[in-house]
Amino acid sequence: MPINTRPAAPPKLAQGMGRLGTETAFDVLARARKLELEGKSIINLGIGQPDFRTPENIVEAGIKALRDGHHGYTPAGGIPELREAVAKDIENRHGCIVDPGDVLIVPGGKVTMFFAIMMFGEPGAEIIYPNPGFPIYESAINFSGAKAVAMPLYEKTGFSFSAEEVLGLITPNTRLLILNSPANPTGGVVPKSEIDKLVAGLTDHPHVTIMSDEIYSRILYDGQKHTCLLSYPEIRDRVILLDGASKTYAMTGWRLGWSVWPKNLIEPATRLAINDHSCVNASAQWAGVEALTGPQDDVQKMVEAFDERRKVMHKMLNELPGVSCQMPSGAFYAFPNISKTGMNARTMQNRMLDEIGVATVAGTSFGSFGEGYLRFSYANSLENIKTAMGRISDLLQK
Ligand code: PLP
Repeated sequence: MPINTRPAAPPKLAQGMGRLGTETAFDVLARARKLELEGKSIINLGIGQPDFRTPENIVEAGIKALRDGHHGYTPAGGIPELREAVAKDIENRHGCIVDPGDVLIVPGGKVTMFFAIMMFGEPGAEIIYPNPGFPIYESAINFSGAKAVAMPLYEKTGFSFSAEEVLGLITPNTRLLILNSPANPTGGVVPKSEIDKLVAGLTDHPHVTIMSDEIYSRILYDGQKHTCLLSYPEIRDRVILLDGASKTYAMTGWRLGWSVWPKNLIEPATRLAINDHSCVNASAQWAGVEALTGPQDDVQKMVEAFDERRKVMHKMLNELPGVSCQMPSGAFYAFPNISKTGMNARTMQNRMLDEIGVATVAGTSFGSFGEGYLRFSYANSLENIKTAMGRISDLLQK
């Protein structure tokens, strides 16, 4: 048989693929790994994951589940034990009653945002999202064909939103409003007074569903209390809560998340789950039961360690020439203003990685309003943070 030497025609992809973005933190991670393999000393302040191991009791619960024979499919919505544990945890922490039947167990926090955006996004629809914000919001909205409407977040207000400004973005075509507090990439936390105002205003816009990404709700500093959007009865029937185990229990690689859906949306959400992944792997779900119902001291210890690093990083960033940084209030990110260094965000990200082996993520990876900022994750050791700051200081004084 002759070998066909004609070049293959490029496959024709669906148009939406051209609109789908990415999460640059994964590119930075890949580049950092490559440089490390080439023998360079790299300090990774780029990726958003705790540098701790998953607590031992949770790991053991996952192993036990495998040994006990939990090898098959589970119900698409998740095992009842975990759905109940999620509902109980929300009740204990925020005082709001959740029907376990409205809880969907999903493979990571991202899945909830994708499902919510797929459920509401289509040409003609508008979805409001935080900018700078988690990049997948804007990417998935664009993919859906909906109009991505940026809710700008400013340094001068601690990267919180103004309720008035958000309400001003709502039109008759707005279907979904995405909120995220504590926030990635800024570490900003929206004060309860501003959320109260937003909720009061939302009562005039019953056509808008709210997806509240509260994946960092346990990572708060200075004695702050988290405000859960489910705790407002006036909008309760249109709030989707996004949460999961990745950040709180250092379980990013287990792919375990959960969401609470309004009664009328749990069925379509479950249908999406059946089409997408059938169910979350069974042993991770049993590990999740242990995470939520077992001792919580490891979470406390992890947050205390982040807090110490937060203070060191904040102080050292402010000592760098041309750099100023607000004190982050939650999550494990600092978002310094680097506009006075004379470099834009992407140039500084690339120069730091290539010239001094410090991986961070340019603010523009989180939306156009991130220009002039860099995201530093302090989910790394104090020693590494101090070494990285020393290297950056040298670079900026060159
Ligand atoms: N939401 C926010 C704000 C995040 O920062 C992240 C991860 O970085 C996620 C959701 C996704 O979490 P997961 O890794 O569980 O999918």
